[in-house]
Amino acid sequence: MQGDAISSYAVQKRDGFPLLRFSANLEAEFRAWYKDRNLKLVQVSSIGTMFIFLAFAGLDVLTLPPSVQVWSLPIRLGVICPLLFALFWVARHYSKYPRMLTPLSVLSVIASGWGTIGILFIAHSQDVPLPYEGIIILITYPYFFAALLFPLACLGGVSILVIYVVMEYLLGMPPMQLVYHGSFLLTMNIIGIVGCYVFEHVMRDNFLTSQMLTEFAQKDPLTELYNRRVFNENYHRIWRQAVRDRVPLAIILADVDYFKNYNDLYGHVQGDECLKEVAQVMGRAVNRPFDMVARYGGEEFVILCFDVRKSFAEELTENIRRGVYQLNSTHEGSSVADRVTITLGGIVAVPEADCMPREFIRLADEALYRAKEAGRNQAVFTENQVNDEGALKVSLLASEPLSFDADDKKLG
Ligand code: GH3
Ligand code: MG
Ligand code: MG
Repeated sequence: MQGDAISSYAVQKRDGFPLLRFSANLEAEFRAWYKDRNLKLVQVSSIGTMFIFLAFAGLDVLTLPPSVQVWSLPIRLGVICPLLFALFWVARHYSKYPRMLTPLSVLSVIASGWGTIGILFIAHSQDVPLPYEGIIILITYPYFFAALLFPLACLGGVSILVIYVVMEYLLGMPPMQLVYHGSFLLTMNIIGIVGCYVFEHVMRDNFLTSQMLTEFAQKDPLTELYNRRVFNENYHRIWRQAVRDRVPLAIILADVDYFKNYNDLYGHVQGDECLKEVAQVMGRAVNRPFDMVARYGGEEFVILCFDVRKSFAEELTENIRRGVYQLNSTHEGSSVADRVTITLGGIVAVPEADCMPREFIRLADEALYRAKEAGRNQAVFTENQVNDEGALKVSLLASEPLSFDADDKKLG
């Protein structure tokens, strides 16, 4: 759950991507995003192309001799149209068949391009002057409508050119005609290659920008931890999951000791550096997938752990406390130690449906207060059981707003 440091997206944007490739982890993320973004396009283009092929099948019946129809109709109606429909179906129900989209897109390109060349081959080998121009139009399909990434789109488009030229050469097309046909198809490929490159480059740039914006909205700019809004949203979701699964949650609040004095002594800029270092210790310590650490406000942090034993939470808090202590950042304004320290308060319990998430925070806050009272630079876990009768009196309503305004008071 803890995010990476800001920001691999910004780094990629700065470094550029002229070869249309990101660093490995971003590339995988982009491809998933790209597929998702293009689902509508694939649906519309596959079903639209299918109807065009159906219309041409009708034209075949009206214009082509039966000896060509026996081939053209099965190719159009038995291979190309079913594949295009399958592609439409998979794009429409993408969540069920996520791995089939790209293979089906490739198959549709091959079937429509190579299949149409096959029909031309049969017609021309029987001296039926079926026009070849449809192939030119078809070259736009891999480049602009199949939502393939650039290399696959180029392979699809160029293969249509090569196979067509070889086919006409074998059938003995006069050289001048062959050169002209080849040139038109080559020109169309160049248009496709340029257009597809520009399109994918723009899409990649959009991806980086949108991810940066999301990150910007979710992260605290100073510490690069999640901000409180993201914590609140995630906390409510995890809370409901914990109630449903009857598993324990931990909330741990952490507070830098005598931080006001630190600012007064060393200045705000150094204070910022100190907060960053403390945040890094926390970010490194919290690394299970559903756990998170966020900046709760000022010099206060909050850690959320899902499905956790108390012994684990105690070990985690001790690691963080020790990690901050071992930073060995001088703090002459502290009455606890000669360096920067933190105090932590936490609660680990199975939440019940009839208590409120903010009660959990309040109990962790109480534990933090007791840890401060006991001398700071230590962690205290509340002994309260959240499901004890009388401990919590408010019900968790299904419609409870995702706001912690009531908790916005200063902690500790
Ligand atoms: P205690 O040990 O009881 O927690 O006392 P404290 O001084 O740590 O806490 P207090 O709430 O009195 O002061 C918190 C200070 O944190 C005051 C505020 O200026 C400082 N602070 C809050 N946010 C930032 C920040 O982003 N950067 C810096 N440098 N200081 C900050
Ligand atoms: Mg404080
Ligand atoms: Mg403090």
